[in-house]
Amino acid sequence: MATEKKLPCSPKKLLEICGRFPTPFHIYDERAIIENFRRLIKAFSWSEGFTEYFAVKATPNPFLLKILTGHGAGADCSSLTELLLAERCGITGETIIFTSNDTPAEEFRKARQLGAIINLDDITHIAYLERHAGLPDLISVRYNPGPLRSGNAIIGHPEEAKYGFTREQIMEGYAVLQQKGVRRFGLHTMVASNELDPQYFVDTAVMLYELAVEVLRETGVRIESVNIGGGIGIPYKPQQAAVDIELVSRGIRDAYKRIVVPAGLHPMKLFMECGRMITGPYGYLVAKVLHIKKTFKNYIGLDASMANLMRPALYGAYHHITVVGKEEAPANIDYDVTGSLCENCDKFAIDRALPEVEEGDIMVIHDAGAHGHAMGFNYNGKLRSAELLLRKNGEVVEIRRAETPEDLFATLDFDRLATFS
Ligand SMILES: *Cc1c(COP(=O)(O)O)cnc(C)c1O
Repeated sequence: MATEKKLPCSPKKLLEICGRFPTPFHIYDERAIIENFRRLIKAFSWSEGFTEYFAVKATPNPFLLKILTGHGAGADCSSLTELLLAERCGITGETIIFTSNDTPAEEFRKARQLGAIINLDDITHIAYLERHAGLPDLISVRYNPGPLRSGNAIIGHPEEAKYGFTREQIMEGYAVLQQKGVRRFGLHTMVASNELDPQYFVDTAVMLYELAVEVLRETGVRIESVNIGGGIGIPYKPQQAAVDIELVSRGIRDAYKRIVVPAGLHPMKLFMECGRMITGPYGYLVAKVLHIKKTFKNYIGLDASMANLMRPALYGAYHHITVVGKEEAPANIDYDVTGSLCENCDKFAIDRALPEVEEGDIMVIHDAGAHGHAMGFNYNGKLRSAELLLRKNGEVVEIRRAETPEDLFATLDFDRLATFS
């Protein structure tokens, strides 16, 4: 099965938008994000209290957070700033899950103050949290299956991952929490990233359901919610297919009936904290061709760089590219599509077959809606681009302005420079 790589609007409209807003920019498609989110919620409607906590780190824009939480999403935060952002969006209480690691006391205090669900990464954090912020009524703990599951395709090599409690620590942790007066318990794991096999997510749920039953037997603790984490992949390549969410849902529902209900653990809530699959395919990086260069290879030089989208340079990740207005032209020239950073890895694509490109052409880099703008950085004095939102009614609004040099210099005190020698 293949995935069609569509533009968020007609090529004509996109060129008009480029006339009004300087490139480069990220643009998000509100309608597509909402439709996709609704599909997810509908697929899991069998599960009472099902909540998708949007992973804020994927696209930390308050306007997008407000749209998603307006449709019933929660927020998955993992840092102080993400908690503050959620708070600024009016998101508080158990609509926030705080899944952090190596956590500073200040962040636990903020999560407690907001009434967020705290998801502990380590057994020593029980005492640390108690000392610095006090223990809340509800605590979730993060499980790392480690070598227990090595050889199982689902996990990869969790024993190499810094996250989570071992099985023994899970049992001890719940017992300690219960003894300290905690009354409500969650169980969490996150074992995959950008995974396209639906069975992975079913296997993850089975693993947590079985563990919840064992926790009940060994400690008497009743787990009220199971969180299978994020990591649902998206088809970056046109020949890939999206994860069949209905299939995942059916598999998890069967496991729930087979494992959770007979153990007397019904009702147990199901949580997810996906970022990528929620906004990834519905965000686009739009850039203009500044230069065409022909040396040992053909180069397209864009006004965007890896500071706007780091994934290709960082992981060699594929991002589909469309030359606006040349959608139907034969892709018969190989180009490296580059940015202007003084790093040779600053390439959005290498040896990509594209139609003949000219200076001034507008190029759209697809699937930049998650872990895109968010991973932006300022190396080489590069400024992060604006973020635009294509509203449901076709209107385009700026939801984050582009950075200016003043933003970059804001942490420097040039007045002191005058008297500095
Ligand atoms: C990054 C992360 C997510 C979101 O991952 P996606 O691949 O964007 O779905 C969810 N939970 C935790 C704990 C994470 O670190």
